[in-house]
Amino acid sequence: MSLKFAAVHLLVGLLLAQLVHRWSTSTEPETQYIDGIDASMYLPGTPKPVRAAFVVLVRNSELVGMKRAMRQIEDRFNRKFNYPYVFLNDVPFTEEFMAETTAMTSANVTYGLIPHEHWSYPEWINQTYAGECRENMEKQGVFYARSESYRHMCRFNSGFFFRHPLLDDMDYYWRIEPDVEYSCDIAYDPFLFMHRKNIKYGYTIALHEYPETIPTLWSSVKEFIAANPEFVHHPAGYAWLSDDGGATYNGCHFWSNFEIGALSFFRSPEYLAYFDHLDRAGGFFYERWGDAPVHAIAAALLLRKEEVHYFEDIGYYHNPWTNCPLGPEARMRCHCDPAKSAVHHYWASCTRDWLKLPDTNASMIAESVADDIKASAASE
Ligand code: GDP
Ligand code: MN
Repeated sequence: MSLKFAAVHLLVGLLLAQLVHRWSTSTEPETQYIDGIDASMYLPGTPKPVRAAFVVLVRNSELVGMKRAMRQIEDRFNRKFNYPYVFLNDVPFTEEFMAETTAMTSANVTYGLIPHEHWSYPEWINQTYAGECRENMEKQGVFYARSESYRHMCRFNSGFFFRHPLLDDMDYYWRIEPDVEYSCDIAYDPFLFMHRKNIKYGYTIALHEYPETIPTLWSSVKEFIAANPEFVHHPAGYAWLSDDGGATYNGCHFWSNFEIGALSFFRSPEYLAYFDHLDRAGGFFYERWGDAPVHAIAAALLLRKEEVHYFEDIGYYHNPWTNCPLGPEARMRCHCDPAKSAVHHYWASCTRDWLKLPDTNASMIAESVADDIKASAASE
């Protein structure tokens, strides 16, 4: 074999090897995975591993605060995951609002008008009396005492957001508000986490409610539970809601301006019956029942403890409270101050109390509390 022939042979061999390598790398790019999910599912506009969306009730006047919140959601999480946004409003969104919020994200964005019957007085409400109640609350110095729109907002968030047609093909939602802050990188998909672990309700901060806003909420809840005891899947939840064996509500609730939830929970016959009972009692208008205690009481009693999750790892701020992860690992991906986390404060001690509750399997010990509460409801 001549030297020339050997050199040509080698050259052809090298070229072939190069071609085969190119072919195998260019036609079969390696699939990227995030937590076992093909990452291409997280590209904008593609169907997501979980049917989920950010859900935002907001006013046109809050555009700047909305963009600020979206900027952080996008930078900390959604630029990688591209979950869609659903914006809802009781009046049409302005062109300016839609253009500027759409421009904040590559994900799909839709805008919906709330149906009139979800944001108005039901026929059984005496509006003259409701007006007198607002005046009385004003005299007591209650926040938002006079506001009718605040009451419609709380009632909508309690009983109607999950019925909006734009959420019909969604299974989970993540509530955001204008001006909230997200202070940690979120490297995983919380919707998928909830779906895999069968979690129905996730929160970051749990507080005590102002009692003046809910004087008769607890007695309405007790009436409902007494009539439907089989709906209670977590008797230990009573010990979280009441410090005196069910006689009074201690105000503990998950702060609902942050929520990641399964819509199936709110659409369940149990929750719908619960909301209907409260709605007929009139406290959304004659008092000022918030959607946070309404959601939380349902989550604490109707769900199992394991179906409620504290997102300790999500850095979150809504004036005036913060959730900031305490572990040293979080210092590398957060810009919040762990010393300021709400879990250290008495007013937000409901998170510590929730975590101390026994698991549902061990909750038989709380059944005596459940019996007490039923007895006290029956005697009222
Ligand atoms: P707070 O957190 O209890 O002080 O109440 P907010 O003023 O933050 O209201 C809660 C959420 O409902 C926010 O996302 C607001 O933008 C929204 N919201 C409150 N009132 C109205 C209203 O009248 N119309 C609309 N479209 N959104 C509202
Ligand atoms: Mn708010």
